[in-house]
Order: sequence, then C-alpha cells, then structure tokens
Amino acid sequence: MSKTVGVLGLQGAYAKHSKMLDQLGIKNLIVRYPDEIEKCDGLVIPGGESSTMSILIDQMDLRKPLQRFKKPILATCAGVILLSENKSSAKVKPLHKLPLLCERNAYGRQIESFMTTIEIQNEHQNFPAIFIRGPKISQIKSNKVEVLAQLDNSPVLVKYKNIMAATFHPELSNNTRIHEIFINLI
Ligand code: GLN
Repeated sequence: MSKTVGVLGLQGAYAKHSKMLDQLGIKNLIVRYPDEIEKCDGLVIPGGESSTMSILIDQMDLRKPLQRFKKPILATCAGVILLSENKSSAKVKPLHKLPLLCERNAYGRQIESFMTTIEIQNEHQNFPAIFIRGPKISQIKSNKVEVLAQLDNSPVLVKYKNIMAATFHPELSNNTRIHEIFINLI
C-alpha cells in the first residue's frame, strides 16, 4: 500500500511542501483535523509563525494527536520551535518531542532573510538553505540528536530518531534531497 505523508496545513509554507512531495511522486494530504493526522505515515510541520500555529493546534484539538504521533516527522523552521523543548510561553506552547532548545528569530527579521549553501553529512552535494526569521538551536539535550549540518558552528539540520528538523526552508529551494531523506525514514 502506498504511504501517505501529511502536511500540517494550519498556517505557513505548507503548500510548498505538498508541491515538493508531489514532485517526488509521494501521496500527500494537507492535514487540519485530529483523525487526518492519525491516518498519516509521516508528517511535515512547516515553517510559518510558531505562535499562530501553536494557538491553532489547540483550537483544532491537535495537541494530543501530535504528541501521540510516533511516525517520522520533518519539521522546518517554525516547525522546529513547535517540536522543541522550549519553555511554554504566552505565545508558543511547544510539543516537547525534540530534545533541544532554540531561540526564535535568531537570524534577524524578514528583511535579513538569506540563502547559503550548507554541507549535509554523508551527502555529496551542498544544499541551498533559505533562512527566513529562522530559529537558532541553542542547546541539544540528548546525545541521540545527530547534527547533519551546521552553519557558523550552529546546528541547522538535525535528526533525532525518526524526526528530522531544519531551521531553514528546504521546500523553497528546488532541491528535493532533504524531503527524499525524510521519505526514506517512512
Ligand atoms: N520566526 C518564526 C517563528 O518564530 C519562524 C519563521 C519561519 O518559520 N520562517 O515562528
């Protein structure tokens, strides 16, 4: 049976992830309801605005299904903040699925967005990484978190068990490699 990847479609760059999965021939579904999440074999949590997504997660009763979800996840940018172990604040209540802390907006404002190339561990080609108000991973709290790529000595792509997390936007480049690595986890 073919696998279905869910793309959390509450806010942010979900459509671009869906397009990239289409391009790879992967069946995917924009998910917004608890029962939809449960049906997926993997899940993408996109970038966007973590505070808005955090509110919508609770409004849509998605907190429990997301916490229960044990299949592979690809989190990008705001998605990393949502999975982190950051302390809950009035703005963002993270899901604590990824043992790391991160600092929101650490690369500056929208106008300071940039693209750079990063080297991914065990990959032959560099990857074009697009940073838009991304978080910086400030502390890794488990030795099971593998750092797959860094920028200026800061981790920007990590893997923890079956969760991949990128502080940039792989879906906005035309390189599908990170999505391929994620799909191979499913
Ligand atoms: N700055 C956003 C936040 O804090 C993340 C930005 C992004 O996902 N591109 O949620």
